[in-house]
Amino acid sequence: MSILVIIEHDRGDVAPAMFEALTVARELEGDVEAVVIGEGAETAATQLGAYGAETVHHVTSDELGDYSPEAWGQAAVEAIKELDPEVVMTAGTDRGNELMAQIGARMDLPFVANCVELNDDASEMIRSQWGGALHEETTLDAEIKLVSVAPHAVEATTEEAAGDIEELEVEIDAGLNRTVIKDRVVMNEGITLSTAPVVISGGRAVGSAEGFAPLEELAGELGGKVGCSRAVTNNGWRPHSDQVGQTGTRIAPTIYIASGISGATQHWVGAMGSKNILAINTDPEANMVTKAGWAVIADLHVMIPAITEEVRKRKA
Ligand SMILES: Cc1cc2nc3c(=O)[nH]c(=O)nc-3n(C[C@H](O)[C@H](O)[C@H](O)COP(=O)(O)OP(=O)(O)OC[C@H]3O[C@@H](n4cnc5c(N)ncnc54)[C@H](O)[C@@H]3O)c2cc1C
Repeated sequence: MSILVIIEHDRGDVAPAMFEALTVARELEGDVEAVVIGEGAETAATQLGAYGAETVHHVTSDELGDYSPEAWGQAAVEAIKELDPEVVMTAGTDRGNELMAQIGARMDLPFVANCVELNDDASEMIRSQWGGALHEETTLDAEIKLVSVAPHAVEATTEEAAGDIEELEVEIDAGLNRTVIKDRVVMNEGITLSTAPVVISGGRAVGSAEGFAPLEELAGELGGKVGCSRAVTNNGWRPHSDQVGQTGTRIAPTIYIASGISGATQHWVGAMGSKNILAINTDPEANMVTKAGWAVIADLHVMIPAITEEVRKRKA
């Protein structure tokens, strides 16, 4: 069986979730090949052999540049027609799912998004629905199976393969570049909430925007980022880009500290990928406390500065 992984990248920067998708692709029964499209594709292509791609098809056309769903979608379709895979996979990111929807619509094929588990030939899978609150068993019966892998469903691992880069020129209608990137604004410099190794979150109990200063201090000491619950963003204490959860960011840090957060399902689904969770809460019955691996029943306003002090002491 041949498995083709369509690589999401931004001017050569491969989306981290793609390495997870390649890891899942290797677990299927078949040969893994990759497709890279658009500006910076050459740079992206060189990173994929280490994650098990035997061949990387560099799709070229004068009409391909920065990300454009219609043009990239058609380019992927041309590559699929040429390479004839049984399974086409990508990461279940916004762009990954958008691209797959383009392919599905253009080839009249069904598409299963956000899979967390797949059988050997991708005919049966479990997919994540409602931001992770529901796992659904699905069967897929199609000549070419289109699937995306939910971010953080697995940990990315490497496996050296040839990674031979082969050029594949395709014809794209210039009129397909209907959605184009006109401008770029950097929202977050450095590590982001979804890639931070440590996330320190605060909930309603923090009490104010200023109340997040001790959390910022602790995050600074641990090289992490500050997150929050929706109660916090609703109050305007933090921007939405800091929100963890179903309607925020799904995170998977090594350490997640959830302070003054009750652990509602909508928050939990964004946090449950964390490797170690510490809940700080005054209520021993709070969902976050009962679900976390570790919990301290205490006032966060006392506990967070105490942890920061202890970290500083140990660093010294
Ligand atoms: C469609 C939908 C989508 C949603 N998406 C999200 C989402 O993406 N992310 C999200 O977070 N929520 C989301 N929510 C909201 C969610 O249901 C909860 O309302 C929200 O997470 C509650 O925030 P909280 O835990 O900060 O506040 P609360 O539920 O009010 O919890 C506050 C906690 O602080 C504890 N506490 C009080 N004082 C202290 C103290 N001094 N020290 C320590 N602990 C203390 C309390 O015991 C309590 O457990 C969504 C809701 C809906 C309907």
